[in-house]
Amino acid sequence: MDSAPRPIISIRNITRSFTAGSETVTPLRDVDLDIWPGEMVAIIGQSGSGKSTLMNIMGCLDRPTSGDYHFDGRDVSQLEPDTQAELRRERFGFIFQRYQLLGDLDAVGNVEVPAIYAGIPRDIRRKRARDLLTRLGLESRLDHKPSELSGGQQQRVSVARALMNGGEVILADEPTGALDSKSSAELIELLLDLNRQGHTIIMVTHDPKVAAHAHRTIEISDGKILSDSGYKSLAAAPRQSPDAKPSRFAALSRLSEALNMALIAMMAHRIRSFLTMLGIIIGIASVVLVVALGTGSQQKVLENISSLGTNTITIRAGSGFGRRDADRIETLVPSDADALALADYAKGVSPAVSSSATARHGSAEATVQINGVVNDYFDAHSYLTVAGTLFDADDVATRTQAAIIDEDTRDTFFDDGVDPLGQVLHLGQVPVRIIGVVRSSGASFGPESLNVWMPYTTVMSRVSGQGYLSSIEVQVANGFETDAAQAQISALLLSRHGVTDFFTQNSDSIRETLSATTQTMTLLVGVIAVISLAVGGIGVMNIMLVSVTERTKEIGVRIAIGARRMDIVSQFLIESVLVCLIGGVLGIAFAWGSGTLAATLSDSVRISFSTLSIVAAFLSSTLIGITFGFLPARSAARLDPVVALSRE
Ligand code: ADP
Ligand code: MG
Repeated sequence: MDSAPRPIISIRNITRSFTAGSETVTPLRDVDLDIWPGEMVAIIGQSGSGKSTLMNIMGCLDRPTSGDYHFDGRDVSQLEPDTQAELRRERFGFIFQRYQLLGDLDAVGNVEVPAIYAGIPRDIRRKRARDLLTRLGLESRLDHKPSELSGGQQQRVSVARALMNGGEVILADEPTGALDSKSSAELIELLLDLNRQGHTIIMVTHDPKVAAHAHRTIEISDGKILSDSGYKSLAAAPRQSPDAKPSRFAALSRLSEALNMALIAMMAHRIRSFLTMLGIIIGIASVVLVVALGTGSQQKVLENISSLGTNTITIRAGSGFGRRDADRIETLVPSDADALALADYAKGVSPAVSSSATARHGSAEATVQINGVVNDYFDAHSYLTVAGTLFDADDVATRTQAAIIDEDTRDTFFDDGVDPLGQVLHLGQVPVRIIGVVRSSGASFGPESLNVWMPYTTVMSRVSGQGYLSSIEVQVANGFETDAAQAQISALLLSRHGVTDFFTQNSDSIRETLSATTQTMTLLVGVIAVISLAVGGIGVMNIMLVSVTERTKEIGVRIAIGARRMDIVSQFLIESVLVCLIGGVLGIAFAWGSGTLAATLSDSVRISFSTLSIVAAFLSSTLIGITFGFLPARSAARLDPVVALSRE
């Protein structure tokens, strides 16, 4: 060659200092250095003399505190992290003393990492990785993990990785430091060979024998260049660059690689991933279960409410439920009912009496609840006629000794197959004929008892002999406000009785109370569920933060060999989203399984899974993943590669 080409590395007046607490350390002072393409340079010096600091600046892993650095004619002294990463990825190849391979990946996987960040299509980069490893004599170790390789083999894998994107300038910081002499010699031979093929090689060593192989030796002491054997004109080397072009969907393929890496990391740390997931599983399962339980019981209550029938106002003697003197108040009488029936707000008036007696049929004997009612009672309370007929208005007027029984009563007094219709039941001394069997269409409130219904007139005159009513139920006519009707009823009865010896109650208020209660319940358990979700999310964040700390070295390696901040963020974010999503799916499955089981085992449990709650659970687990994964992911991406790499 007639003239020396332009230096590829040109350093002027570079100083690097660190502030550690109140002290300032300056491992590099006013260094000037030029390195030309195709050179093989050895940097020697004592430990702590500043060799690594210089290498890190040359490799764009670090930035000088002051001074100029031109790489291939371009000022690169103060580049942004992602631009630095691009340079490292495209132009440099790094070989570290401790190999710095990723433990979760096999040899091919490690070698292809720089090409992943360069967006090279998968099949091209895998082929290239295999070719490189084969060239370096590792064809039988392609799918071995670093832990299954010897030191020399690991270092050759890292050489292949350095060459993956071309490795125009190879920076090797004490590459033989951890190798035995045989592997050392092989590695030096390999580096010389690469140099002959045109790679510029800069290596740091404190071994003079290793340095002796280089064409040029630079000695550093105390942050300054002590001696430089100088540039010897070399045959200009062809610039090395792989022919592969980034794929057209490079960004997309990098994302899918990030997904792949997240999966690998999760599989490699199954227990940790599962424990992280557990928080989300519990959170999501409780949200879904609680919502399903809440909706289920609300539905059940609503059904019960609708079985209460049309809007009614019930008048009872006494001043409220539970008053002991209520059954001694004898002022609620049939004539009150007649008076109420005349009012225009009353569509129907049903006087009722209740009593109990011992019923007998043949040898069977049991205490039954005797309900004296009117004929439209069954309609208003949604009873289904199972057999026979109901009594009519005439039966009420003529005090017929006809009785309707429920299914439990039928089963108590009659054997299977015996028709109860037409049979006579003795209530105390009074014989009554059974004319019908009914079944309640909704769940009933209160204690279950055997029920017998008869015209209230019959009960009053023949069975209990009491001259007063237990209650009067007024059905409110359409177009009348329940509250207004209730006030008018109270006024009417007050004028008739002179004192308030009765109380009224309307089914609206029962309805409202019941639905308000279930809503409050649902809200309450919902809040508890959301809290458990948040706790699960914070758990995810903690584990992710720990995982970032634990994997500082891996992150350092990735950044050093060319990962952008975004690549690191997406890898960690995808990992936490995946953990949360899988946790979410497992949580939903668990909720569904246990809810269905509970509903099958117990009649009183009603579960109603809504698509909405499942979709919401799904979305919230994703959101938790993103929210709580973001901070750890960002702190991972902001790690200083030099600091991260030196972490043990
Ligand atoms: P070596 O020649 O052994 O590679 P280094 O370049 O690693 O030496 O370090 C040179 C000096 O700079 C050492 O005294 C070291 O303690 C100091 N040093 C290197 N990196 C840092 C840092 N990040 N913070 C503080 N001091 C540092
Ligand atoms: Mg060093």
